[in-house]
Amino acid sequence: MELIDGNAIAESVLTQIAAEVAKISGRRPAVAFVRVGEDPASVSYVAKKQKTAAQVGMTSRLEIFPESMTQADLLAKIDSLNRDPQVDGILVQSPLPKHMDETAVFNHVHADKDVDGFNTLNIGKLVQEDPSGFVACTPAGIVELIRRSKVETDGRHVVVVGRSLIVGKPVGLLLLQKGLPGNATVTFCHSRTRDLPAIARTADILIAAIGRPRFITADMVKEGSTVIDVGINRVPDGSKKSGYRIVGDVDFDAVAPRTARITPVPGGVGPMTVAMLMSNTLKAWKKRHG
Ligand code: NDP
Repeated sequence: MELIDGNAIAESVLTQIAAEVAKISGRRPAVAFVRVGEDPASVSYVAKKQKTAAQVGMTSRLEIFPESMTQADLLAKIDSLNRDPQVDGILVQSPLPKHMDETAVFNHVHADKDVDGFNTLNIGKLVQEDPSGFVACTPAGIVELIRRSKVETDGRHVVVVGRSLIVGKPVGLLLLQKGLPGNATVTFCHSRTRDLPAIARTADILIAAIGRPRFITADMVKEGSTVIDVGINRVPDGSKKSGYRIVGDVDFDAVAPRTARITPVPGGVGPMTVAMLMSNTLKAWKKRHG
C-alpha cells in the first residue's frame, strides 16, 4: 500500500505557482475573501488560505461581515469586488448564515473572478468540458492528486460516494471527461443508493465524499484499488487539547491494507483544495492580463 501524500503534492503545486508569480512584474494576483459571521471552521479555513496566498507571493484581502448582514447588502459588497480592478479572484466562504441563499450569492460572483467554481456559468463549462472555466477547488485537487500519483483512470471504474455540487458531482464529471486523467466509467452513489457496498466493491478508484466518519469499511473496498478520502469529520477525542480530532469518511486502518493507494486524513485532499485555489487565482489573473 502506498500513501498518497497530499501535503507533499500540494507543496510541489504551490512551488510551481510561486515560481510563476515571482516572474510577474507589476501587480501580483490578488484574491478577496468574504466571511460572514464567526463560524470557527470558516475562520481557520480563511486564515489558512490567506497564509498560503502570501506563501506563493499573492496578495489577499479579507472582508468580514456580521452574521446579521442582509443578503442584499452582501450582494452589493460582491458587486463592488466584481468591479474592483485590483481583485482577480473572489471567494465567499461557506457556510453562509441560514437566512441567505448560497446559490444566489455564489452566482453573484462574476464568472471570471469565481475562483471557487460554484457559479452556474463555470459549472456549465465543466459539463461542456470547456477548459476556460474555473473548476471547484476540491474536485480539481482530487484530479491533480490522481494525475501526479499516476493513478490510471482510462477505462477504469470510478465510484463516487456523494453527489454534492461542491465535491461529488464535479469530481465524477471531471473523471468522465474525454482525455486524461479521465476516460473513466463513473458511478455516483448517495443516500438512496441500493446496496452501496456491492457497487463500491467494484471500484478501481473509490472516492468518498459523504461527511460521515469511517463510513467506508474494508468490506466495501476492492483489493488493489485506489481510495480517495475527501471527508473531514470532527470526532470527540479526550486526549486532544481541542477535545476532538479529524477523521475521514474511510475507516483508514481497516481499509488501507486492502488498497494499492490511499489518501490519509488529514494530509490528503485537504491541502490540495487550498493549492488549487491558488492555481485558480493565478488563472483569474491571467484572464485579466491576457
Ligand atoms: P454534502 O453533505 O453536501 O454531501 C454528502 C453526500 O453524501 C450527499 O450526496 C449524500 O447523499 C451522501 N450521503 C450522506 N449519507 C449517506 C449515506 N448514509 N449513504 C450514502 N450516501 C450518503 O457534503 P460535501 O460533499 O460538501 O462534503 C463531503 C465531505 O467532504 C464532508 O466531510 C466535508 O467536510 C468534506 N469536504 C472536504 C473538503 C476538503 O478540502 N478536503 C472540501 C469540501 C468538503 P444525498 O445527496 O442523497 O443526501
